[in-house]
Amino acid sequence: MPTTLDSPVAANTKYEPVIGLEVHVQLLTATKIFCSCSTRFGNPPNTNVCPVCLGHPGPLPVLNKKAVEFATLAAMALNCRINETSIFARKNYFYPDLPKGYQISQYDKPLAEHGFIEIKINGGTKKIGITRLHMEEDAGKSLHEGFPDSSEKTGIDLNRSGVPLIEIVSEPDIASPDEAYEYLTRLKEIILYTAVSDCNMEEGSLRCDANVSVRPRGQEKFGTKAEVKNVNSFRFIREALVYEIARQIDVIESGGKVVQETRLYNSNEGKTYSMRSKEQAHDYRYFPEPDLLPLVVDANWQAEIRKTLPELPEARRRRMMADYGITEGDAYTLTLTKFLADQFEEAAKAAKNPKRVANLVQGELLGRLKAKGLEIEQSPISMKGVAESADLVEAGTISGKMLKDLYDLCFERGKDFPVVYEEEGRPKQSTDTSALEKIADEIIAANPKQVEQYRAGKKTVIGFFVGQVMKASKGQANPQLINELLTKKLEG
Ligand code: ADP
Ligand code: ZN
Ligand code: MG
Repeated sequence: MPTTLDSPVAANTKYEPVIGLEVHVQLLTATKIFCSCSTRFGNPPNTNVCPVCLGHPGPLPVLNKKAVEFATLAAMALNCRINETSIFARKNYFYPDLPKGYQISQYDKPLAEHGFIEIKINGGTKKIGITRLHMEEDAGKSLHEGFPDSSEKTGIDLNRSGVPLIEIVSEPDIASPDEAYEYLTRLKEIILYTAVSDCNMEEGSLRCDANVSVRPRGQEKFGTKAEVKNVNSFRFIREALVYEIARQIDVIESGGKVVQETRLYNSNEGKTYSMRSKEQAHDYRYFPEPDLLPLVVDANWQAEIRKTLPELPEARRRRMMADYGITEGDAYTLTLTKFLADQFEEAAKAAKNPKRVANLVQGELLGRLKAKGLEIEQSPISMKGVAESADLVEAGTISGKMLKDLYDLCFERGKDFPVVYEEEGRPKQSTDTSALEKIADEIIAANPKQVEQYRAGKKTVIGFFVGQVMKASKGQANPQLINELLTKKLEG
């Protein structure tokens, strides 16, 4: 998908795209940023509200300490420099879901600046700069559906009003829709590892606005950008960027000028549409929020927060490759979620051969999960189960074929490996040498040509014989044992 999507862009060597992303992430605090209302998603409309988040005049905002800690932790994970003093500011605009008429955000003195995310692209790595990370409150939500005469009404739900957000603004360092996709994937992964957000895009816990322009390749000056708003999946963002880049190139090539504007993406049509132009652009009249003191996160507090910073995905992958002798591909798969990585490490430490555990997860578990549409958290076979099965193969107690059959049973029955292994009467692969010898003799007798080849020095033919014996024993035999047996017979 990425290559075909990107190809019209890649093929156009005359222009290059410039992309900068603004990502909003909802922090997982129990209460809102300036009041003690619950942040719970899905409660009946306007039940998590109070005079502060309803925007009544008079009551004062009180900053949520946990929100500051979460925002700071995220900033640290994104390699940002923390500003010891940052300032909350009023961003003024009118919108029905914003009863105060302003949003409390941060402007010229944000919580954190000068970060970066390292992305993997074309086999190499690239640093995408993070300009700033600031704190702000969310607005409410307009509801256009669910009324008896739906077309006539719009409702306002203010449960979300005052929910804490961080906004992460990237430098215009992103050079293709694929890089944007990769940046978002890594960003989400890092935030999930810090556990300051669930990054659930369906519930709006992670939202992305994409700024994009094109310029003649080699030109230093940026072209005029358009901002694509409210795209609700990373895949759609990539698609929207592909479309938007092609559209802008088209405009320029046909003698026109790209105008600075906000556009919306229609994922059904795969097109972006103009929402408002620069003439209607907002002048937010930012000024320092008079009801809040400057936010001070001093060195001591920063050190306390830094202590809670977990090992981050990229570092973890490198360590796991070293610790368990697994490939980079294995490491990526096994760190897909922190849950999976934790489980794997727990299992791998206990297993005789961690590499085999990794192979089984990649080769036997993930495919079966995918076929059933299950997430790793829903796997009938736990990591401990995988480790136990790996040990049985390692010890030669069961064969690879038997393991596959047992895994199938686990998925059929929805039970973990140790349970099914028990239920099946602790099967063992055949180590009955006399039965195997008989099969081996038959195979050797039936294939004189291969015997001749082997004896003439083509030792690799042994593989053929092992395969034949395995097949005849219906995968129940130990390949190593067969190998030894056959070697003895063929050499003798
Ligand atoms: P605005 O004032 O319009 O919000 P900013 O300078 O704050 O613009 O940048 C918003 C986002 O747009 C940032 O992520 C930035 O990297 C990106 N950006 C800025 N200029 C361009 C451009 N010409 N092309 C693409 N992205 C851009
Ligand atoms: Zn409230
Ligand atoms: Mg801006």
